[in-house]
Amino acid sequence: MRFNFLKKTMNHKKYILFASFLVVLWSCSTSKSAIQETQTVTVEQKVENLLQKMTLQEKVGQMAQITLDVITKGNDRFSSYEPIEINEEEFAKIIQKYQIGSVLNTANNKALSLEKWQEITAKIQHINTEKSINNIPILYGIDAIHGATYTDKATFYPQQIGLAATFNTALVEKAAALTAYETRASNIHWNFSPVLDLGRDARFPRMWETFGEDVYLTSEMGKAFVLGYQGDVLPLPKDKVIACLKHYVGYGVSNAGKDRTPLFLPENELRERYLEPFKQAIEQGALSVMVNSGIINSLPVHANKYLLTDVLKSELNFKGFTVTDWADIENLHKRDKVAQNDREAIKIAINAGIDMAMIPYNYETFCDNLIDLVQKNEVPETRINDAVRRILRVKFLAGLFEKNTLSGNEYPEFASKNHEKTAYQTALESVTLLKNEQNILPLNSKQKVLIVGPNAHSMRTLNGGWSYSWQGEKVEQFAQKYNTIVEAIEQKIGKENVQFEAGVFYKNEGKYFEENTTDFSNIISKAAQADVIIACIGENSYTEKPGDLNDLNLSYPQKNLVLALAKTNKPIVLILNQGRPRLIRELVPLSQAIVQLYLPGNFGGDALANLLFGTENFSGKLPFTYPKFANSLLTYDHKPSENQEKMVGAYDYESDVSVQFEFGTGLSYTTFQYSNLKINKKEFNSSETIEIQVDITNTGTKIGKETTLLFSKDLYATLTPDVKRLRRFQKTELQPNETKTIRFSLPIHELQYINHENKRTAENGIYQLQIQNLITEIELKN
Ligand code: BGC
Repeated sequence: MRFNFLKKTMNHKKYILFASFLVVLWSCSTSKSAIQETQTVTVEQKVENLLQKMTLQEKVGQMAQITLDVITKGNDRFSSYEPIEINEEEFAKIIQKYQIGSVLNTANNKALSLEKWQEITAKIQHINTEKSINNIPILYGIDAIHGATYTDKATFYPQQIGLAATFNTALVEKAAALTAYETRASNIHWNFSPVLDLGRDARFPRMWETFGEDVYLTSEMGKAFVLGYQGDVLPLPKDKVIACLKHYVGYGVSNAGKDRTPLFLPENELRERYLEPFKQAIEQGALSVMVNSGIINSLPVHANKYLLTDVLKSELNFKGFTVTDWADIENLHKRDKVAQNDREAIKIAINAGIDMAMIPYNYETFCDNLIDLVQKNEVPETRINDAVRRILRVKFLAGLFEKNTLSGNEYPEFASKNHEKTAYQTALESVTLLKNEQNILPLNSKQKVLIVGPNAHSMRTLNGGWSYSWQGEKVEQFAQKYNTIVEAIEQKIGKENVQFEAGVFYKNEGKYFEENTTDFSNIISKAAQADVIIACIGENSYTEKPGDLNDLNLSYPQKNLVLALAKTNKPIVLILNQGRPRLIRELVPLSQAIVQLYLPGNFGGDALANLLFGTENFSGKLPFTYPKFANSLLTYDHKPSENQEKMVGAYDYESDVSVQFEFGTGLSYTTFQYSNLKINKKEFNSSETIEIQVDITNTGTKIGKETTLLFSKDLYATLTPDVKRLRRFQKTELQPNETKTIRFSLPIHELQYINHENKRTAENGIYQLQIQNLITEIELKN
């Protein structure tokens, strides 16, 4: 069936009626999709049949998710070495008594081999089959956020921020599809990905897990991910996984820029930006949603019935299930103090619309209390039935009831050369050239280079967090076969042409921001023998709370390293390998070239070497605004007053906010010229569509890919409008001298904004459409 079908369903009764009607209708049809739709109707019947048979204990068990730590044994379970084993006796007891429905990563906090995953998940299902009443399979969930990141030898893609920089949705969909394949090869059906939070705060420690600051780009990438993970056929085929949109909604920004801290956000802004990517991914068919661990307008989102039930389930017609983030029901009591005890926390969260609790340890507390709450009518059984219905629906649609173990090598393409090729290509298309003074790049392979910086010889920093472990600190144990930047450049131009001195070192065992530094005199003397210096700077790996930051400036040791090298007067190429834009304004004028590498994954070193030496061409574009000053954190879609022009008169002030690099910046080794921007007509009403076309010519001498960005600008509105908004993009490859015509269709309703009554509206008046430096206008007249 098409996923969109799910969203069309109304409340449950209406849905069943509607479904029965469709069965009759479809029996007259022989098309493939009709057969698939019929299967979904059967799924609903299966869910109802099963639900009828279940005890309250079983239903509550389905709503409970525990971490693998709870059911593994051995003193080594928190240490860094294998093997881990399922504690069969313990798990059997838990199943027998609590009928737990879901388990999540991770024991050992470390990647396991493919075979080990298959063995563990098979054992879990086997014990469940033996001990559970109705043999409802366990749904196993994992953070496979840039490839099957907890499976040894799996293929790793760039982190989301880099994928966004490719502006290539087809390529991103492919990367997601291959991730789904390798996750299923590990016998895992559920992926806690994609992140659809907006990266609008450069300070936030998970900015790199987002698709950047823009609503439209995030929505398009989000849909590509959902399609790549789930496909568009249900039940899921054997190479697909259940997507989990996170973290619903308004995560990724906070007043203080720190993880899981309060945010004050009016509803129209929440709807204008933060809700939109979730809405579109749900329309695409996403089957699960993880809830924001933060606090909006003083109410923890896990306690927010309006957002979880009224908006998500009623208004957006979401038919999958919601899962909490880690321990976030407990947090209502222990951290956020909106519940006096665990029991009250459970009551608030479940009544608000939570379907599954990522408990993850204290399952007795959760299950016993929830049963008691239902028995005392403090949580209605209808709420429990709704939650369980949603979870069972997804388990059926995931194909878990059909087959939940693997035999032999059913996934021959796991970690294949083909998958690696896509990983390389995504890394290549993500890397973004921000500055190239006097065309210092591409470098000549006969030049002598000195490579410096803590990121030059590190697989850990190329990958970032959620790579083989939560914080990414174990990457070096697993990623030896791949090339660091130094190794890739040595392979490219020969070891004899490369010198390497880190100068600054991250402390592998310490906090991610702890650094050691050496006396730079040795490096300075080496610079004398080099033609060019490649300085690989940025950040060590981190995620979540441990990645909180107190100073957005690049660290002093790293800054000092580059400042010292600048005194040698050798040209400097700055490579930024970082999860968020650390401030580098003093280094920008001292560097002849600047390359934003993001967190490109295991093939980032190779992609970078080929780009620097001109074997490949750059085509990435910045998916966020790179700030220049810590007190000027702006997004490209700001309000007019945030960047004012000179005011004439007595108060002759100017408030220009200086950014380092604008959203969408990305240079190439060739040049592109836009011309002939045309629209189908000048006046529109709200039901019409603008047809836009523009010619683009490769005016340089190299083949290259260019992303065309279409922005709109509402000149005047009742609520002060954004200065511009991205509405469409398209990436195109052009040979030298080649011209292509790019066409966009833009329905007028996509120009709407959310007004003070929280309603979508496009007001009459003039709107500008802009592609690069070409601008045209339309008038909306209703
Ligand atoms: C993170 C989620 C993640 C979950 C499960 C949480 O701490 O916020 O993004 O999916 O853990 O690992």
